[in-house]
Amino acid sequence: MDRRILLAGLAVAAAGPRLAMAQASAAAPAPGAPLAQAPGFYRFKLGDYTVTTVHDGFVRRANPLEGLVMNAPPEAVRAALEGALLPTQGLMNPYIVTFVDTGRGIVAFDAGTGGGQMAPGTGLLPRNMAAAGIRPEDVTLVAVSHFHGDHITGLTTAENQPFFPNAEVAVPAPEWAFWSDSSNEGRVPAAQRPTFANTARRFAPLRDRMRMFGDDAELAPGIRSIATPGHSPGHSSFHVSSGGRQLFVTADAAGTPALFLRQAGWHSVFDLDGAMAADSRRKLFGRIAAERAQLCAYHFNFPGTGFVAAEGDGFRFKPVDWSAVV
Ligand SMILES: [Zn+2]
Repeated sequence: MDRRILLAGLAVAAAGPRLAMAQASAAAPAPGAPLAQAPGFYRFKLGDYTVTTVHDGFVRRANPLEGLVMNAPPEAVRAALEGALLPTQGLMNPYIVTFVDTGRGIVAFDAGTGGGQMAPGTGLLPRNMAAAGIRPEDVTLVAVSHFHGDHITGLTTAENQPFFPNAEVAVPAPEWAFWSDSSNEGRVPAAQRPTFANTARRFAPLRDRMRMFGDDAELAPGIRSIATPGHSPGHSSFHVSSGGRQLFVTADAAGTPALFLRQAGWHSVFDLDGAMAADSRRKLFGRIAAERAQLCAYHFNFPGTGFVAAEGDGFRFKPVDWSAVV
């Protein structure tokens, strides 16, 4: 071996542990300070594309036994949670934004909760994007699944400036038609009424860079929409394909898998049309299961990506095995 290379290698080896120690001490919390979790991002390759799921925080539902599942009794919900070894109080609902780098741009699937504009515990997206090396200015397209606040609030800052300054924003045409028309306010539960004002506010500075899409529209090379209505009138999922591999971005076609995938016919309080949502869910996840394809979901446990198999009256979710290499 060339002696210079050998010496350089030894120098790097000697510096390595020092660097690691310096980083560790820089990251170490002050005595008495709360411990922070590791940065929340997870990365994998899909053909020529690079996919990164980024954690945007979470809220806990104090009592998931009541008022969450609309067409099952609390005992059935309790049995489903206990069967999945999940808590029956304080059930976690995470928020996860998926980014796909196509080599020609970065597509974000939904925009997150807005860096602290919603409930405490949310708003981690900017911090975790920085940890993942994804800069807001490098995002070229935001593909919006639907207009509930946890998906569009992050389109703009607290001052209502675009968070992704260079991105086009693609939205489902039926979703825009519904939530941009305040005469529909009487058709949604009171808890969803703020969505009309939030839609007007978030899209106001984005109108010149918006485009509408329908079912099976190509939004970017290898990225197509799949109409999955019910959760909201224009709810859309997405299909990503590259190099013979495929990924489904399922957004809110199903929430907590132990509830709404295992019992695919259950209606969530957040589904505007529960029966239609369940129908879309069965079609979408049935296809994913049949094709043994990978999926990314918005509210599944982080990193929010894995596989499904048909089982019983629904589907079993298998998270990816965490891989130390991309
Ligand atoms: Zn959601």
